[in-house]
Amino acid sequence: MSKTVASPETKRSALGAEIVGRIHQLGAISATPAQLTRIFLSPEHRSAADRILVWMREAGMAAHLDAIGNVCGRYEGDRPGLPCLMLGSHYDTVRDAGKWDGPLGLFTAIACVADLNRRGRRLPFAVEVIGFADEEGVRFSSTLLGSRAVAGTFDEKLLDARDRAGIAMRDAMVEFGLDPARIGAAVRTRGELLAYVELHIEQGPVLEQNNLPLGVVTVISGATRLAAKLTGMAGHAGTVPMALRRDALAGAAESIAAVEEFCKNDAAGLVGTVGYIDAKPGATNVIPGLVSFTLDIRAPADSHRKMAVADIVRRIEVIAKRRGLALQLDVTHENRSVPCAPWLKAQVAEAVAAEGFPVFELPSGAGHDGMAMIDISDVAMLFVRCRGGISHHPDEHVETDDADAGARVLLRLVENFRARE
Ligand SMILES: [Zn+2]
Repeated sequence: MSKTVASPETKRSALGAEIVGRIHQLGAISATPAQLTRIFLSPEHRSAADRILVWMREAGMAAHLDAIGNVCGRYEGDRPGLPCLMLGSHYDTVRDAGKWDGPLGLFTAIACVADLNRRGRRLPFAVEVIGFADEEGVRFSSTLLGSRAVAGTFDEKLLDARDRAGIAMRDAMVEFGLDPARIGAAVRTRGELLAYVELHIEQGPVLEQNNLPLGVVTVISGATRLAAKLTGMAGHAGTVPMALRRDALAGAAESIAAVEEFCKNDAAGLVGTVGYIDAKPGATNVIPGLVSFTLDIRAPADSHRKMAVADIVRRIEVIAKRRGLALQLDVTHENRSVPCAPWLKAQVAEAVAAEGFPVFELPSGAGHDGMAMIDISDVAMLFVRCRGGISHHPDEHVETDDADAGARVLLRLVENFRARE
């Protein structure tokens, strides 16, 4: 596709093209040739790590794999051993993934360091780039394993978790070339980090709708997940009169519609999703007696999310009671929202404005490694527009100009970074 000729005021660097080239190279490292799948501790995950280590070293960094398989690069400041500004993202993927979720942030960070290195520029702090080994949590059903190991919140019981094939994480680590007994060596401390900044694709349509390449993240929304079970009475679809039925699936349908309506009428960023449902016995001619479904509720503010969850639960209780259904609701997952640090967010916004882009703030509805890093560092994020807001899908796409815009802003942020007073 041909691009329009850049007008004199349109700035563009070579960073975008370099980043996009690497996105495609890494995107070719997959378990399956036809689609991109690169799961934690798989052989292709290891090949990707080795490739990233090479690129980090070419960018002038000392690079190594840490104890959980994170790819770590360090570019010293104007003297060795200084605390670092840490940049990064993750290099694992979901199944049948896009190429940009994770690697865009990682390669943008590497490109920024390479640029400093080419100019011989040293800063009054070190810059570290980290590629987290597991953010998506596909293999062992537990997310943020890489960043949790760094933040010191990795639960060692997870070493015994098994994947679909029955392989334990500790055995997969050995296969990858890691020593599970040394996992504690990945831990970093608060004194080593001045800040953690992550550039990531938006994974939603808001920037595109606003015709903007970049967004400054205000907060990573917290989430509550629940498992709901409605029990009624199975029966013959032909013989039980409507008034005498206790149809668990009809009750679930009413509950789902109530969740949607409740969230739609919220003006404070609340989103609610029922992403899974199962009806038993599951036959055309049988009234469903047992239905399980999940709920995923997110909001930028924790207090708001908690109130919304309580409200939604009450509504489902009312529906169940009216229909004579037994209701069981369990919270299966809960994480707090992670606000981006105001002082750091201000520096991101300053860099966006200095590169000539409007400063647009938005919350992140998706989870990110900052949720773990907040335990040892202040966190900020910069979002880059992705086509159609599509993510976790092979159609995920970022324009080179947008990748370049993100790189210029990140580089400016790094060069002008001031540690918190
Ligand atoms: Zn991601």
